[in-house]
Amino acid sequence: MKINASRLQQHFEAMSLIGKIGETGTCRPTMTTLEKEAFTLAGGWMKEAGMSVRIDDFGNLIGRLEGRNPALPVLMMGSHLDSQPYGGRFDGVAGVLCAIEVMTTMTENGIQPERSIEVISFADEEGWRFNKGLFGSRGILGKLEEGELNRTDKDGITRRQALLDFGCDPTRFTESEYKPGSIHCFLELHIEQGPVLDMAAKPIGVVTGISGPIWWTVRLKGMAGHTGSVPMPIRKDPMVGAAEIIMAVNEIANQVPGAPTVGSVATIQVFPASRNIIPESCTFTIDLRDIDLERRNRYEKQLLDRIDAICKKHSLTYEISEDTRSDPRYCADWIKDLIRTECKNLNLDAPELMSGPFHDALALSYACDYGMIFVRCKDGISHNPLEYSSYEDLALGTEVLYGTVQGVLKRG
Ligand SMILES: [Zn+2]
Repeated sequence: MKINASRLQQHFEAMSLIGKIGETGTCRPTMTTLEKEAFTLAGGWMKEAGMSVRIDDFGNLIGRLEGRNPALPVLMMGSHLDSQPYGGRFDGVAGVLCAIEVMTTMTENGIQPERSIEVISFADEEGWRFNKGLFGSRGILGKLEEGELNRTDKDGITRRQALLDFGCDPTRFTESEYKPGSIHCFLELHIEQGPVLDMAAKPIGVVTGISGPIWWTVRLKGMAGHTGSVPMPIRKDPMVGAAEIIMAVNEIANQVPGAPTVGSVATIQVFPASRNIIPESCTFTIDLRDIDLERRNRYEKQLLDRIDAICKKHSLTYEISEDTRSDPRYCADWIKDLIRTECKNLNLDAPELMSGPFHDALALSYACDYGMIFVRCKDGISHNPLEYSSYEDLALGTEVLYGTVQGVLKRG
């Protein structure tokens, strides 16, 4: 191997001490002293790799290795060092530390690339603190939405205040933005966060794309009444409607065996939630994702028809509000080819798979071509202190990333 696997392992071990919870967990919220500590540590490694280091006004940590021709669009790599409140050691961290290892190896080998290379740890990928993620990666592309700085965390701290406390200046965002065309491509290595590679006993996967989620909030309204007296035939029970819709979501997402479609109802609120009142209303969320947009559109239509029919059947009214709609985003064929070639060179049989969760690469996909390398994680467990990828697999992924970067540079 060209990269240094034991150095990589040491970096993971050192990083996992920052915000450590329990034996193997991490709690490293975005824009906190813990994340600053992580930035200081990773920034030191970036400097050792010959990179200049800065934190921009969105709170992104950026290491840059100047190319011989700095005017060329930059090759960008990275992920995030913030974690879920009850998270693991590898989600996001892998994409940053493996990229730093690639750069250290390049510098050790005396490679000065023609185009500049940047490694970024993006601010607030996870999104739980302010209920909106991909902050840093959307930020550098000028894609923040109205009112984002006024979002508050559970302690009432606004995003604006958190940024100021972190040393960022929200009035200077535009200076941290990347102009259209200034990013050549984006590479992200990430743990799979699903069981596909582990079940296939393959350490590395080539990502084909990131599936697009539709997030809805559905409100069903019926008629409250005494559970002991209202005869069954005249009830307007939104809970029964919700139950049928939940089943419909599950059936629709299951239509094609083996397809990557997923559909879930994961939250539900009932009003007034008394055991002897037939509910008056029921509110729940739907999450429908697919990598195939045409199929997702078809399923969306089916679901709307089912919701309408179910509500009619139970004499309910309903309201659907859309919280998120994002199209599937496909990885660039030429980058997939480079990753595949590198896997072949390493005698790896790397399956192709899509990503159900989104990543910083989703934001970058609107600005440049992108590619992703997945590393197997045990039992597909993630967003959980039990999340685990072996250092052998992470080293392999880093070796693939190293080769991919050389391929991108060679291509010019
Ligand atoms: Zn992540």
